Amino acid sequence: MILLLVLLAIASAHPQTLKVRSSARIVDMPLERYVAAAVTGETSTLRPDEALKAMAVAARTYAIRHRARHATEGFDLCSNTHCQRLESVINRRAGSAAAATAGELLWYEAKPAFTPYSLDCGGVTEHASTVWPLEAAPYLKSKPDPHCRRAGPSEWQWAGDPQAITEALARSALRAPARLAAVSILESSPSGRALVLALSGDRETVRISAGSFRFAIGRNLGWNTIRSARYQVRNAGGKLLFQGSGAGHGVGLCQRGAEQMGLAGHSYHDILAFYFPGARPGLSGRGLSWRQLSGESIQLLTTMPDQDGAVLAEAERQARRLTSRTRLTFPRGVQLRIYPDIETFRNATGEPGWVAARTRGRRIHLQPVALLREKGAFESTLRHELIHVLLEAHAATSLPLWFREGLAAHLDGTQASGNGGPPNDAALRQREDQGQARRDHAASAAAVSALVSRYGEETVLGWLKRGLPAEVTKASASQPAASSR
Ligand SMILES: [Zn+2]
Ligand SMILES: [Zn+2]
Repeated sequence: MILLLVLLAIASAHPQTLKVRSSARIVDMPLERYVAAAVTGETSTLRPDEALKAMAVAARTYAIRHRARHATEGFDLCSNTHCQRLESVINRRAGSAAAATAGELLWYEAKPAFTPYSLDCGGVTEHASTVWPLEAAPYLKSKPDPHCRRAGPSEWQWAGDPQAITEALARSALRAPARLAAVSILESSPSGRALVLALSGDRETVRISAGSFRFAIGRNLGWNTIRSARYQVRNAGGKLLFQGSGAGHGVGLCQRGAEQMGLAGHSYHDILAFYFPGARPGLSGRGLSWRQLSGESIQLLTTMPDQDGAVLAEAERQARRLTSRTRLTFPRGVQLRIYPDIETFRNATGEPGWVAARTRGRRIHLQPVALLREKGAFESTLRHELIHVLLEAHAATSLPLWFREGLAAHLDGTQASGNGGPPNDAALRQREDQGQARRDHAASAAAVSALVSRYGEETVLGWLKRGLPAEVTKASASQPAASSR
């Protein structure tokens, strides 16, 4: 029945609200409103409801996966194409698509999947790794798209003036040869998209990434110029003639193909399965199967056994160390659950994101190990929770929370001082005020520290089973509570 915690400042927005920057203002936007605005802003032409629903799931998953993208600027996501373009006047059908799929995300290996989309893949989608080498999305491989091909050809061409191209590159701070005479494709991806270009002038040739080139032209001369990276280029009548097909990067969901799938009667799950094979739709990562690893006295439950397996050995080692220090038997059947992400942790425990772990009885709930390690808090959190499991297995029912918390802190080696008196149980259970919770835990630690200095560790540990002696109970009750609550 005890709630035990290590306090950490892990910043995280409420899962149902996003901080969105829209024309220099930062607004709190409910998640589903955000999804409806993104579906409106990113799909001007989609007709079938099932295609819109597929887009709603892709847009929602994209938002959740990239929620921390602008964290250093004080908000979650921006409202233009850098993140997802939001339209302030929400289309009614986009709103229905968001509502019909509310909360649904695509999951891949216990995490929200990477779900990019583009207007038209031109008949062959692109590898995610070609455009985003840092996104782990092995399921997004290049493949033929028979669906958008059914809609007929999507060829385009653009005749660019060499002088205008040179100026556009300069405005984007990209180097071009003095008198641009020819553009040639040096490297292309397996799907036939340009990766690296050579820009040749009178005296020199400049190598440039095809992506930077296309963005500079798009930004300065309009996006209706070089519409995709799938093109050939040649000189024609003093101009540079780009001839290609498709529109956009071509990775992930192809909107033109999704439209055709919807018209042919496919469901939005069919559409998502075709463009994001291997990613599974669901309301939360909890649907993913727990794997169990068993140690001597601890069972580990994880969705990522490869990654978390070493934690079990570490936990067993710490348990043995604690037993030899306290001479208390470590209980059997302790379960350690490691959650794949903060959201699943919060859903399962009801704890806010700044609580790193929670122990109830013999079950420890832990935030993702990688996240705790990032904060330099993994080992201390694990040790702290194991101490609680040990203490709870031996504690007399009458023991107040402050003594359990304070003793855990003492065994943990927390240096504590202060003489304000211990807080009451209700104060130690509250979760509204992180600062107050921290102070109440410090006060508990200080109270037990004082007892250890006065009576010695062995005596104080003995009270764990027997309960506090009357003189201690009286003394702590007569002192003013440290908590103002
Ligand atoms: Zn952005
Ligand atoms: Zn396509």
